[in-house]
Amino acid sequence: MKNLRGKILPCLILILTNFSLLGRDFEIRGIWMQATEIRDKKTAEEIVQKISSAKLNAVFILVYYWGGKSFFRTDYAQPVNERLRQEDLFTYFIDECHRRGIKVYARFSNGQEGGKGNDGILSTYPHLQIENIRGERMRWFDIGKKEVRELQVKLLGDLLENYPVDGVQLDYIRFPSLSYCYCEECTGNFKNIYGVNPIELYYALPVSLGISSTPLARATRAKIIARLENGVPAISLREDNPGWLLLFNWEINKSSIPFFLQILRRALESEKGLFIPLPRRELGYDEEGFGEILRALRNGTIDYKMIGEIADIHCEESILLLPAVQRLGEKMCAELESFLRSGGKIIVTLGREGIKEGRGYERLLGMEGKGARINGYYLLTPVEKHPLIPVFPDSQEKRRKLLEEWINFRKGLITSFVEEVYKKAKRTNGSLTLSAAVFYNKNLGDKVLQDWYSWLENGVVDFVAPMAYVDDKRLLSALQEWKSYDPHLGKILPGLSIYQLRKGREVPKDKEAVMRQIRIIKNAGAKGFILFSFPFLTDDLAKELAKL
Ligand SMILES: [Zn+2]
Repeated sequence: MKNLRGKILPCLILILTNFSLLGRDFEIRGIWMQATEIRDKKTAEEIVQKISSAKLNAVFILVYYWGGKSFFRTDYAQPVNERLRQEDLFTYFIDECHRRGIKVYARFSNGQEGGKGNDGILSTYPHLQIENIRGERMRWFDIGKKEVRELQVKLLGDLLENYPVDGVQLDYIRFPSLSYCYCEECTGNFKNIYGVNPIELYYALPVSLGISSTPLARATRAKIIARLENGVPAISLREDNPGWLLLFNWEINKSSIPFFLQILRRALESEKGLFIPLPRRELGYDEEGFGEILRALRNGTIDYKMIGEIADIHCEESILLLPAVQRLGEKMCAELESFLRSGGKIIVTLGREGIKEGRGYERLLGMEGKGARINGYYLLTPVEKHPLIPVFPDSQEKRRKLLEEWINFRKGLITSFVEEVYKKAKRTNGSLTLSAAVFYNKNLGDKVLQDWYSWLENGVVDFVAPMAYVDDKRLLSALQEWKSYDPHLGKILPGLSIYQLRKGREVPKDKEAVMRQIRIIKNAGAKGFILFSFPFLTDDLAKELAKL
């Protein structure tokens, strides 16, 4: 028996090896395309004919993109062109492909919206977008949001119920960078688990900020809440219970805006309205600093109202914001003083050169003397506790760990959505394949929170297609990395480019270069490939591919 097994095994290996030599090396010989290349039945036929002539057996066709529009029929998206209202070109295309033995994988853009101008679903529903730490939104679906996930799962449901596709491929299934997403929902969900808002992980004291200022030098009746490392007062507080006046002793700029906004948000949790007095003879703002703060309020969706008369607003539950002050006259100070005494709250930030004109402001602010001009990065350290000023309560080591968790948490948002889609697809039809087009190595994937190796490990995709539109050297090193995770490349299908840049334009790549890369991945044991993309498939290349 032992001997027999010794004889059978080499035979079996020989048979398998021979089998793979019989032109069946690549299970998937795919190509990427956009559905908008299909304009009518005729172009559909031509495309299928061309794909067939290259003996490719799979097409990964983008069907949801273009500003949240779709190429398939659904109640949850507008059609990408009007013709689709009369004619279901996607069904026709799928039938044509299947007739020629070509599998059809419907590809979704999950992140990038792809709209032009205001033409897109995210213009209509801006709250579905991602946000950075400054509260600035971007035309990109926030996969961390429940509403976005539900919308995309419904779209998928309509597709899978009505079209006999062979699988689904997720694309742009990531955030654009580590700078996203800091929206209320994403940060709130993190806080529910870890007890801290990620924005505070970055901006709780002690924190290093770019500070530009001609500060007031010392406190008289105010108390210092935070100082710069050189001893200069950074934040001071004058208390007139229940009123108070908080002074930021510098010009709030890009570097300190997220810090400033979070304090403002904290203040607005207990106060109802934010009011900014219009500039006048008695009150002047540094134009640049003023504009910067107003922009930040708008980007950060913080409501405020410009007002003429302070006497018109209720002192209780109101905050007066004086952004980038450079002129503060005596009469104005008296008005603010009485606002404070009646329980009003005031936040003052300085202009670039501090307060240049006016009288009586030292008494109002509880600070005096002109400090030397400073400009650079300074560490802000806490002096006194105050509910509005976040201080990181734990060690810096703990802070570093939590920041790592914040990265992992956001990777998890993407991963859990992939899993949701996987389950949905398999529930609908167990034989459907779910794949994802991904950044081609771990380093790049990590930078966009796309943890695709873990997707493979946890079995939430059937395979991934790393978009390795790179030179041979990088392709070889990518193959090495892929094989260290997936030695037989059973779940990693290389994506190769068939275009190249010439004088800034995308043109078809030399067929020799394409075929050389196909040989490289074949020698490494790849089970298939996907080419990017259809418009660059020349007749010459098709002939070469047909010989595979
Ligand atoms: Zn978000």
